[in-house]
Amino acid sequence: MTTAEAAAPPPEVLRAPLVVEFPFTRSLGPVQSAFLTGLRDRVVLGVRTTAGQVMVPPVEYDPVTAEEIRELVQVATTGTVTTWAWNDEPRPNQPLDRPFAWVLVTLDGADTALLHALDAPGPEAVHTGMRVRVRWAAERTGAITDIACFEPHEGPVPAEPRPAPHDGRFADPVAGIVAEARLDYTYSPGRAQTAYINALSGRRTVGERCPSCHKVYVPPRGACPTCGVATTDQVEVGPAGTVTTYCVVNIKARNLDIEVPYVYAHIALDGAGLALHGRIGGIPYDQVRMGLRVEPVWTEGGRYPDHYRPTGEPDADYDAYKELI
Ligand SMILES: [Zn+2]
Repeated sequence: MTTAEAAAPPPEVLRAPLVVEFPFTRSLGPVQSAFLTGLRDRVVLGVRTTAGQVMVPPVEYDPVTAEEIRELVQVATTGTVTTWAWNDEPRPNQPLDRPFAWVLVTLDGADTALLHALDAPGPEAVHTGMRVRVRWAAERTGAITDIACFEPHEGPVPAEPRPAPHDGRFADPVAGIVAEARLDYTYSPGRAQTAYINALSGRRTVGERCPSCHKVYVPPRGACPTCGVATTDQVEVGPAGTVTTYCVVNIKARNLDIEVPYVYAHIALDGAGLALHGRIGGIPYDQVRMGLRVEPVWTEGGRYPDHYRPTGEPDADYDAYKELI
């Protein structure tokens, strides 16, 4: 596939922005706590491995022996660029809001490199082997962003930089961090799921049959993962189906306005070769059972069934759905 084709899919295939974001909260442990607290106090700490290598940023376990590492050392705030890439279009929340270089910097006294940004006027001002130093952020909180970026540095290269032992103790150490993770996608579901989604808008469920093993995939992915062949034969399934297995949900999800407890089930729609999942309503949660026959309930303007409710038919025989659990 050429880049042009990848950038411009056929117009009938759906595309939509998809943003995944969540705060990631982690406790730091003694090594990462000392590293980040050190940055707050303008001190860069690394660890010395059992083989004598100084690692910056520090790790908690020796990458060769897997032994726990606790020996902290202080390295210089100057260093050498070992490789780099120019970033022409900085994205929101990157270290600098103007074009900059991503650099790997081996700080003087360290044996491994740290990834960060280098403030330079253009790519012609950056080269492997160039000398740089830390530019500290004006306000520091105990985070990697306490290093605002690196900047070119003309000072002398130390002859034999010796990392100084450091006990890692600071007043008011940082014990944890919250990292805001955010992923921006342009999501395209592809040909098969586009057809599935379009059919849902007409309150129909359309899967695709494998030409080799005849299994009907719902939702379709465009290929049979067992046979490794494309599925092109569209098949309408349902609307009713059978509960193959289920769980009772007792924990209320954020941003989801459903009273607990409720039942979430795997439902094999009639004609489908595997189960999809959905919420079961219209029946007390403790009366839901394997084999229960259900049908979709649509809400006004809904793009997929809001939930499934009992049809009132007799339960399906176990043999009828045992391969779909
Ligand atoms: Zn197949």
